[in-house]
Amino acid sequence: MKIKTASFVDQFPEIEILKNESLAKYTNTRTGGPAEFLAFPNSIKQLRQLVMSARQADLELTVLGNASNLIVRDGGIDGLVIILQKMNKITCVADQVVAEAGAAMIQATEVAWQNGLTGLEFAAGIPGSVGGAIFMNAGAYGGEVGQVVKKVKVIDRQGNLKNYSQEDLQFSYRHSRIQDEDDLIIEATFSLKPGQPTLIRKKMDDLNFRRAAKQPLEYPSCGSVFKRPKGYYTGKLIHDAELQGYRVGDAQVSLKHAGFIVNLNHATAGDYLAVIQHVQAIIWQKFQVHLETEVRIIGKN
Ligand SMILES: Cc1cc2nc3c(=O)[nH]c(=O)nc-3n(C[C@H](O)[C@H](O)[C@H](O)COP(=O)(O)OP(=O)(O)OC[C@H]3O[C@@H](n4cnc5c(N)ncnc54)[C@H](O)[C@@H]3O)c2cc1C
Repeated sequence: MKIKTASFVDQFPEIEILKNESLAKYTNTRTGGPAEFLAFPNSIKQLRQLVMSARQADLELTVLGNASNLIVRDGGIDGLVIILQKMNKITCVADQVVAEAGAAMIQATEVAWQNGLTGLEFAAGIPGSVGGAIFMNAGAYGGEVGQVVKKVKVIDRQGNLKNYSQEDLQFSYRHSRIQDEDDLIIEATFSLKPGQPTLIRKKMDDLNFRRAAKQPLEYPSCGSVFKRPKGYYTGKLIHDAELQGYRVGDAQVSLKHAGFIVNLNHATAGDYLAVIQHVQAIIWQKFQVHLETEVRIIGKN
């Protein structure tokens, strides 16, 4: 039997669920429309309840991580949006770091360092959640999450729990099998190696220093907007096309890093999308190269 959406929230007095909540508060670009329902489960049990009830009520279900690789259109998202920030435990067992999907990837790298484990340093400055990092196969400075993942626990859209091994996840450049399966990631195990804590810290600090020197971290953004096209560097293409500084409303191609679009103050998602479309059109016109977005664009206009 279908449950009326109006009473959806009332079924879960123990779960924090907000109605018509602006997602601009949660996205890294500080843009985006409202979620019809926004829920913050604190356990697998609560998450399963939400997944199964949304299915029963025919509510669309969307999961967000730290929203650092996302543009939510200004019309927002219908149905149920879930953020796993309360599921954020990280533990260390021998040479493995086990992290819940809502934990910050940066926190996972800190735990690895504190336990003298090497292999995650490359992710020290990636501002996403563990779930988002697995989904995107996030990477930097020669490392990728998929290289150090041992297994991932997920829940599918029917509410079944499943485990994937590293091979199952078919990681490739900014891609993992989760993007095709639509599962919800709930936990990841990273397989690391014993290392010298001072060297691990030095590498993390060094990479973060390089990041701060290159990236416009003083402004909201969603990181690199476009994937690297084969045989080209996105930043160089945009720089050579003299698009740095191009602006619609308050969304601007960064003057510091051509691959970023920053929110100078009051940008909307519409401003972001207009800048993206313009950049794609000019790069095609000048170089016949298609820039595919790395950033995920979701929601309605
Ligand atoms: C300043 C800055 C620097 C960045 N630097 C890098 C970098 O060096 N390398 C890099 O790869 N990326 C970088 N990014 C992009 C971003 O941080 C990564 O892609 C990150 O992994 C996204 O994680 P997230 O939790 O923010 O995911 P979100 O943006 O919230 O979501 C991304 C996608 O993952 C899905 N998703 C999130 N959580 C789950 C889950 N639990 N289960 C299933 N699906 C899920 C979402 O539905 C969405 O489709 C940067 C971004 C910024 C703003």
